[in-house]
Amino acid sequence: MTVKVLKNYIDGKWVEAAQGESLEVHNPATAEVLARVPLSPPADVSEVVEAASAALMEWRQTPAVSRIQYLFKLKNLLEENFEGLSRTITMENGKTLAESRGEMRRAIENVEVACGIPALMQSEFSEDIAPGIDEYMIRQPLGVVAIIAPFNFPGMIPFWFLPYALAVGNTVIVKPSERCPITMQKVFRILDEIGLPAGVLNLVNGGAETVNALLDHPDIKAVSFVGSTPVARHVYSRGARNGKRVQAQGGAKNPLVVMSDADIEMTTRIVADSAFGNAGQRCLAASTAIIVGDARDVFVQSIVEAARQRVVGYGLEDGVTMGPVITPESRARILGLIQQGVDDGADLLVGGREIQIAGYPDGNFLRPTILKDLPLTSEVAKTEIFGPVLALIHADTLDGAIELVNQGQYGNMACIFTSNGGAARKFRYAVQAGNVGINIGVAAPMAFFPFSGWKDSFFGTLHGQARHAVEFYTQTKVVVERWDEKWSRQF
Ligand code: NAD
Repeated sequence: MTVKVLKNYIDGKWVEAAQGESLEVHNPATAEVLARVPLSPPADVSEVVEAASAALMEWRQTPAVSRIQYLFKLKNLLEENFEGLSRTITMENGKTLAESRGEMRRAIENVEVACGIPALMQSEFSEDIAPGIDEYMIRQPLGVVAIIAPFNFPGMIPFWFLPYALAVGNTVIVKPSERCPITMQKVFRILDEIGLPAGVLNLVNGGAETVNALLDHPDIKAVSFVGSTPVARHVYSRGARNGKRVQAQGGAKNPLVVMSDADIEMTTRIVADSAFGNAGQRCLAASTAIIVGDARDVFVQSIVEAARQRVVGYGLEDGVTMGPVITPESRARILGLIQQGVDDGADLLVGGREIQIAGYPDGNFLRPTILKDLPLTSEVAKTEIFGPVLALIHADTLDGAIELVNQGQYGNMACIFTSNGGAARKFRYAVQAGNVGINIGVAAPMAFFPFSGWKDSFFGTLHGQARHAVEFYTQTKVVVERWDEKWSRQF
């Protein structure tokens, strides 16, 4: 059987990438080769930027109320194709079908919020800042913008940016992860149906070389990036060096604090879902549970039980609650980190091994894993594992727990489980993290809030989603205006 080679979508047409390297895209559960993805060289990037630049002026002049009509059509088509897109995510990424559906729901919510652009884009006006003089601010689009996405949410993450960038009047280039590029291929088939003018929205597949060509291209005005911290740092500095506006969301190592007054049954369910959902490959995955005071014994017991009960398998099958990790290399890296944690003194309470799933001998499956008393000096306590591994550590007091949270290099998310409002407030006030959960284990902001992130989890000022996205994708023009009646002819 011949394997399909994915195409780029440039200037309203599906085109083959210029000759060069390509990679296989595997189903992480079955190891089946689903497609080949081209690693588009700089020549393709030049072509796509040219198309987006040519489409810019007409798109910018299209009234915002007309631009959002395309988004209404898109919302309807995404709903019609919801199940098919969700299945594609599971096939190329490995997460369960329920998780893929949750992801697509979040994508659609961003389209819905961006339908409000005519109001979101409105600006400010002050009359009589001096006698007869008015001052106002206009938001204008930036030009051609690029979106660079990671593998772990191939359907949702481009939508943190794409609907807003388009609706405010920019033309857009999306570069999906080369590890999960098929979902965007399908999304672009839908986008092809909504009748946007050619060149307004474009897709270019590729890897690091493609990203660097986007970062170096003088006609790209802004870059939105989500991925690991080393690459986020690279994208932020290279893009900024080239004079671009950049927002770069990076990696994470998320701590959750469990107080002794927490509802242990609920907390266990939520923490297990945070740590093992999406096989731990979420930027908002719980990585460390800091157990305060005498919650220790009961929580340790219940979370180990929850890890044991997780059903590992192919995400398209009923009853499966955890899929594989993305690649065999990723699985090997995660197993290596677990072993290093044990060598450094942690107790392996559950998991820590591969698991064979009947019918899927080549899948990248792992067992949910819990490492108790992982020493804080261990590199594993600081490294983003990005797999289904939860470390348990102990703190005597809430202050001690907050200190541990704030020692971390990352600041993507921090959560507390408690029934004490005072403890919750203190935590919310003091923790150095952009997304905070109170009795919530995956504090993912809805589409009408920014997807925040601090410290090494984010480089930039304005985040994705809603008003932040509108501000990121527009530049402000301030006009001071004097009109004098005596200049006017008599009516
Ligand atoms: P990654 O950094 O490997 O890749 C992200 C993108 O960068 C891809 O499109 C890839 O092609 C490109 N890329 C990779 N290496 C590059 C290089 N050397 N130079 C230029 N471009 C390069 O990330 P990933 O493994 O696909 O995704 C997982 C990571 O993303 C995790 O660290 C996770 O925490 C993070 N993430 C963060 C958020 C957030 O909101 N902060 C959300 C989702 C994922």
